[in-house]
Amino acid sequence: MTDVISTNGRTLGRCICIITGASKGFGRALAHQLCCFLKPGSVLLLVARSETLLQELKEELKGFTEEQQLVVHCIVVDLSTQEGVNEAVRVARLEAEKEMDHVLLINNAASLGDISQVASFTDLDVVNSYMSLNVSSALALTAGILQVFPCKPGLRWTVVNLSSVFAIQALASWVLYCTAKAARKMMFSVLAAEEPNVKVLSYSPGPLDTEMQKDILRLTGVDNHPFPCQDSAVKLLKLLLDNDFSSGTHIDYFAV
Ligand code: NDP
Repeated sequence: MTDVISTNGRTLGRCICIITGASKGFGRALAHQLCCFLKPGSVLLLVARSETLLQELKEELKGFTEEQQLVVHCIVVDLSTQEGVNEAVRVARLEAEKEMDHVLLINNAASLGDISQVASFTDLDVVNSYMSLNVSSALALTAGILQVFPCKPGLRWTVVNLSSVFAIQALASWVLYCTAKAARKMMFSVLAAEEPNVKVLSYSPGPLDTEMQKDILRLTGVDNHPFPCQDSAVKLLKLLLDNDFSSGTHIDYFAV
């Protein structure tokens, strides 16, 4: 288990950090870890649909808001809708006047979708609705945040795409999940090719002990032997602090 980071005093700087899917699972664990590496005056935007869970997380982070003058906003939205994406961008814009060292966008929110064979997906609405959250919203949100915080000298810019081994490996009956993760991987590779000043990382976090894994066990009977989110969050933090990955790369938890 990895639960200690050797940072040598490194931080993520005075950072505006946006985490989608922060209410539970990996996003929530990552929020806890990240706060330890933010300089005073940083801003954390927590995005998800569950207001209660986001407020609970904000309360858990109170120590950082008081000691590190960390500003935390809960953005309660459904990211599969245009209104939801617009609202997240609107709140980010409210913070755009502040002098920041680093913009860090963590595209983490996702869903499992129906686990069924290709031949069962005749309904375009079902497919589009899945892709809307799992592909389109990550693109539209990233585009919106790029517009709010244009690249400029002295501003570090990082985008993390929460990926999966199924972005590169086909699994029968997982057509929605595999397709969305593969599309996201390419989408963020294109961003890396377009924007030399933005560091882009697709991170596959390994099997995590979250609601998503519980659903997998319930729906398929497969036990992937998940481990605590904190272990994987620590590895992602280490990658971000070291910052020596090449932009656009896909890195798996087990390879770190
Ligand atoms: P969970 O299902 O536990 O959490 C998903 C998060 O996304 C929740 O905070 C949820 O909040 C949010 N979310 C879901 N739908 C929406 C929506 N429409 N609008 C806004 N927010 C939404 O997922 P995990 O923590 O397990 O997974 C995190 C990431 O890691 C995902 O991208 C997943 O694909 C990836 N991953 C996970 C693995 C695992 O083993 N768990 C393995 C490999 C990759 P709320 O319900 O409050 O909206």
